[in-house]
Amino acid sequence: MEFFMDCACHSGLEYEKCCKPYHDGYASAPTALALMRSRYAAYALGKTEYVMDTTHPASVHFHQDRSLWNKELKAFSDSTQFTGLSILESSEDQVTFIAHLMQGSQDCSFCEESLFKKVEGKWYYLEGKHSS
Ligand SMILES: [Zn+2]
Repeated sequence: MEFFMDCACHSGLEYEKCCKPYHDGYASAPTALALMRSRYAAYALGKTEYVMDTTHPASVHFHQDRSLWNKELKAFSDSTQFTGLSILESSEDQVTFIAHLMQGSQDCSFCEESLFKKVEGKWYYLEGKHSS
């Protein structure tokens, strides 16, 4: 049923026409917003490599120990349902969004203002500020 799967970033588009080319490495997300959406979808789909590869090395979220980092991401991804994504605001290098998440019966949605940085034509996640 992969063929007509809606993208996990909740864009309403087919995965193939949305975040898949970025996940598969055929293309780089052209904007900070596209990168943000594709990272949300990567979390939802357990594509931890993509999450790690699009995190800026200067970010506090960047870990030197990739296998440990991978385990943490997988655990988060496996225990969470990614039920929705609302974009509140976006500019060239900043996106404010609400990630709708459930862990079991617990709503752990959050609002984040994320900052992105472009390096040699590719966008990376730099940091984020949470508010509830
Ligand atoms: Zn998408």
